[in-house]
Amino acid sequence: MGTNKVVGRFAPSPSGRMHLGNLWSCLLAWLAARSEGGGMVLRLEDLDPDRCRQEYRDQIMRDLEWLGLDWDGAPVYQSRRTEVYEQAFQMLKQQGIIYPCFCTRAERLAASAPHRSDGVTVYDGRCGRLSLAEREARSKTRRPAWRVRVPEREISFPDLLQGVFSEHLARDCGDFILRRSDGVYAYQLAVVVDDAAMGVTQVARGSDLLSSTPRQLWLQERLGLPHPEYGHLPLLLAPDGRRLAKRDRDQELGQLQERFTARSLVGQLACAARLIDRPEPITPQELLPLFSWETLPKQDIATEYLPRGISQN
Ligand code: GLU
Repeated sequence: MGTNKVVGRFAPSPSGRMHLGNLWSCLLAWLAARSEGGGMVLRLEDLDPDRCRQEYRDQIMRDLEWLGLDWDGAPVYQSRRTEVYEQAFQMLKQQGIIYPCFCTRAERLAASAPHRSDGVTVYDGRCGRLSLAEREARSKTRRPAWRVRVPEREISFPDLLQGVFSEHLARDCGDFILRRSDGVYAYQLAVVVDDAAMGVTQVARGSDLLSSTPRQLWLQERLGLPHPEYGHLPLLLAPDGRRLAKRDRDQELGQLQERFTARSLVGQLACAARLIDRPEPITPQELLPLFSWETLPKQDIATEYLPRGISQN
């Protein structure tokens, strides 16, 4: 990477208002970077036009500011970077590792084995074995998605929090989509292109993305991009054990703001992160000297055990 300066990032998807789980990852990502005197950049992951809305993009920035989190420079909008993703896509195409996939949703499910414990399915690569003539025939009736052919390779990396994580690309992940049939570039491609373009050296994000990281490391290699370091944070769980999601309305920042001040929320999250012993009100700035990857919990955290009743009643 050539420089020791840490650059972290916020990468929220503006498909709804931020919820407690987003605040948790944003706070910790900010503390991880800023506690080392590092930079922090903001990228709005608004690739999916069906799900993302301008009002949420603006709201996210107001919410981060309300919480006391700042970033450097102008925010980057993925929706404005299609040409850059196209270049990376073409580069991979030239390497001969991309193929069109004509499977419908139903076919895709039929062609995928539920391979992993988390229920994620692994595509069997059938469209990658079509002859040229078959491809031509099928492209007359259907616009394909595009997949990248993964190698028979185990990818391991040392996670800052979770220890060494490994995944065998062909077995555990399978050929994955880089561009949807409607032309929208996939998260996996955009994220590696943007992390590199924005000079990100440290990715702190929820552990739901842990299993995406081997794919991203491999894509970085194919595209000649540097590898950031990764720290996958435990997730905050709803009382029934699910991870918090946009549908947990009472965990949305709009609702939380009616019950808590920013300092009170930050204090409770900091206590859950074991940065302070008691859930006392505090600012992100005041937490800077207390941040350490070493003492962060690794296991997911049930919000019902968060202090002061953040959880649903
Ligand atoms: N946009 C993703 C999310 O909001 C985060 C992606 C990432 O951190 O790589 O869940």
